Amino acid sequence: MRTSIYFLNVNIQDGFTLLLVELYEIPFDACHELLQTLRRNSYRTTNKKAMSTSIRILDGGLGTDLFINGGYNKDTLNDDPLWLSRVTYENPSAVKNSHMRFIEAGCDIITTGSYQASVAGYMEHAKLSREQAENVIASSVDIARKAIDESAAERKIYIAGSISPYGAILHDLSEYTGSYIDDTSYEKLRDYHFTNVHLLASKGVDMLAFETLPALKEALVLVDLLKQYPNCKAWISFTTKDGIHTSYGDPFVEVFQTLAKYPQVFAIGSNCFDSNLTKTMLECAKKSISSHQKCIIYPDNWKCANEVVKSSPLLWLPEIKEWLDTRMVSIVGGCCMTTPININQIKKTVRDWEQSY
Ligand SMILES: [Zn+2]
Repeated sequence: MRTSIYFLNVNIQDGFTLLLVELYEIPFDACHELLQTLRRNSYRTTNKKAMSTSIRILDGGLGTDLFINGGYNKDTLNDDPLWLSRVTYENPSAVKNSHMRFIEAGCDIITTGSYQASVAGYMEHAKLSREQAENVIASSVDIARKAIDESAAERKIYIAGSISPYGAILHDLSEYTGSYIDDTSYEKLRDYHFTNVHLLASKGVDMLAFETLPALKEALVLVDLLKQYPNCKAWISFTTKDGIHTSYGDPFVEVFQTLAKYPQVFAIGSNCFDSNLTKTMLECAKKSISSHQKCIIYPDNWKCANEVVKSSPLLWLPEIKEWLDTRMVSIVGGCCMTTPININQIKKTVRDWEQSY
């Protein structure tokens, strides 16, 4: 009797998507020898190959770059209830130029200038109509595409549609505490987030960035909305004060276990937080994320906040290799106070680590 075994060769093509590329039929007699060879050689070789293409560099602080390199006043920008989204509306070229600086610095993913953008915010603080506000939010994807088109980059650059938490439009830093979570219903959060998720997903972004979230409750609203766009994937990134809980107080292990059930969520992690908490957060993730997920890390560089300039050092640069040693991280970038120069430093550090592996 002739017996066969089918051997699947799966290749990680772009770091985000698993593609089945080959299917072999192997005679049973050859299986034993093949499996012995795989045990000896293939695991290490395959992992090394995957590692060389799987860690992506995210951009840095778009708002930070606007006052470091874009001529904006830091205090004026930070005091504006529309923050970055004011610039997306009034001066799209400035946002495009910021994207281009991060692309030139070596990032693989740029996030759209839609953080803190909302229809209600534009209507109240920029006196736009609903239709105009929606057009501006959608235009953040066009701005990112234009930046990619005008850049000299020959590598693939991905666009992540930035979705900020409800707390961001409250403009009271409550995305770092979750103080609004108890008093804001699931339905209210869903109604608020629906428009931006719809506008950005409909523009065909490569992924959505659900970022700076303080609580699981809001993350679940977003992943439920994401189901309406089955071809869209997302990362979910939380704020934290201790590396063990979200800033609202949800235990990361439970949060990640819950989010492991969502196939569209390809990465989870933290942003806009103290880099010293990264290893603790990764320990929580190690116990709870799904095999289809990796971690995303983009801390702030607030320790440089008062004196940040073009050449400010990235204080957590030496820590990155330890994060990568966990083999759990697929995206590294920077949040507030990280500059294009810092992103270039991150890229070199990541590529050095890959070479040494
Ligand atoms: Zn930040």
